[in-house]
Amino acid sequence: MLTTDYLIIGSGAVGMTFADQLLTETDAEVAIVDRHHMPGGHWNDAYSFVRLHQPSAFYGVGSRPLGSNRIDETGFNKGYYELASGAEVTSYFERLMRERFLPSGRVHYFPMCDYLGDGKVRSHLSGAVHEIAFRKKLVDATYFNTTVPSTHTPSFEVAEGVKLVTPNALPRTAPDHEDHVILGGGKTAMDVGVWLLQMGARPEKIRWIVPRDCWVINRDTTQPGEAFFQRSAGGQADLFESVVQATSVTDLFERLEGVGQLLRIDRTVQPTMYRGATISVAEVEMLRTIKDVVRQGYVRRIERDRILLERGEVAGAPDALYIDCTARAVGGRPNVPVFEGDRITVQMIRAGLICFSSAFTAHIEATHDDEAAKNDLCLPMQVGSSHLDWLRLTLADLRSGRRWGVDKALRRWVSEHRLSGAGAGAQDASAHGPEADRIRERLREARPKAEANLARMVAELG
Ligand SMILES: Cc1cc2nc3c(=O)[nH]c(=O)nc-3n(C[C@H](O)[C@H](O)[C@H](O)COP(=O)(O)OP(=O)(O)OC[C@H]3O[C@@H](n4cnc5c(N)ncnc54)[C@H](O)[C@@H]3O)c2cc1C
Repeated sequence: MLTTDYLIIGSGAVGMTFADQLLTETDAEVAIVDRHHMPGGHWNDAYSFVRLHQPSAFYGVGSRPLGSNRIDETGFNKGYYELASGAEVTSYFERLMRERFLPSGRVHYFPMCDYLGDGKVRSHLSGAVHEIAFRKKLVDATYFNTTVPSTHTPSFEVAEGVKLVTPNALPRTAPDHEDHVILGGGKTAMDVGVWLLQMGARPEKIRWIVPRDCWVINRDTTQPGEAFFQRSAGGQADLFESVVQATSVTDLFERLEGVGQLLRIDRTVQPTMYRGATISVAEVEMLRTIKDVVRQGYVRRIERDRILLERGEVAGAPDALYIDCTARAVGGRPNVPVFEGDRITVQMIRAGLICFSSAFTAHIEATHDDEAAKNDLCLPMQVGSSHLDWLRLTLADLRSGRRWGVDKALRRWVSEHRLSGAGAGAQDASAHGPEADRIRERLREARPKAEANLARMVAELG
């Protein structure tokens, strides 16, 4: 039996960030258990052309930058901070384990092991069950329950002879087919559409089955640092002012699109989905060249000559390659209190910033004692699904920001932490000049009014 201070289940981004912050701020020992053979969680199962959708500059753990803060000079991310590939993310976490965690002598790592509950851990290879006792807390870093196409089971039927693949198999299988059918309306489907087009597929040979259209965040507004202050903090001011002026939900989304905060692929369709995906205008423009978009709800069954959907059917091309992009990614479990006795369940406490949420939770664990006060600072929110969740998440963010802002040391910690994302710098004085002052003034003015209007709209939604 091993005894440690913290027992962390999961060595994905959440578990690694939590452990890293504990190593930085405490003397604690931790044990980390994971089914995968390497840290990085779902990034181990990702397709080869996956990239972060947010800048590497604020992904990963607190103690170590991911990438080199380069601005891309070519491609659809031109002019913006680099986006790590899946391979770069897994390599980053693997090196972190090898170069920082294990040499610290304070981390015990159990790869390829299932956590069975009650401190019991079973090795995938030997089948042996070991016990790990903890002096302080059990940290559940599996809450987000991430599923990607290569690890999920599709919810629709596929008749014999239909060729269905995950994006992982696309580079190998795509050249054997003239027609490609993308299934799903989320970020993975968008990645696949962009990849096919970049690799030379003709737009008219791509069909896109979109069960729900999606509002996406414009990457232009997510760039951190002083050079982008006007677009990120200024964009936040635009966002708050749009919320203040909005008279209805439809009006709100049109305003957010008008000020360049949110994007949609087809301007004639009202999206009903929001999952925090971030893409660039260049990608949106590329995706708009795909004209054969089917909007008849979820896929029920694919046969060689037809596709049956929730609201009808369309003809299928017998030799088409179907690409499954229907995995849910993150979310699906109800929120629970983050701190509950000897258990910590790491959840999203700042919209869209999962790594930051984990680092923040570890910081609060390391610096506060009172459980009620800790939970008050770490109010969890649901990962978005419906477009209406944009309102709930933005309101929750505003409320948390207000609570955190009361404590000067915490406010400073947030604004200086590498994971706190674009716009956080608005709280410190790194950007100078009359324009920066004017943006700060607009933020000060609009923030409370935006919170009030959002609270009213969310209450009306029920
Ligand atoms: C394609 C894609 C792109 C994304 N891009 C971004 C981005 O740019 N920015 C961003 O902030 N977020 C992004 N996300 C969201 C992303 O999911 C999170 O950033 C983060 O990687 C989630 O990490 P996690 O640790 O919660 O989950 P996971 O990566 O799933 O890790 C959880 C780990 O727990 C292990 N585990 C679970 N149960 C057990 C058990 N009982 N015993 C042992 N081990 C167990 C699993 O094996 C897994 O390794 C993206 C997600 C996807 C799918």
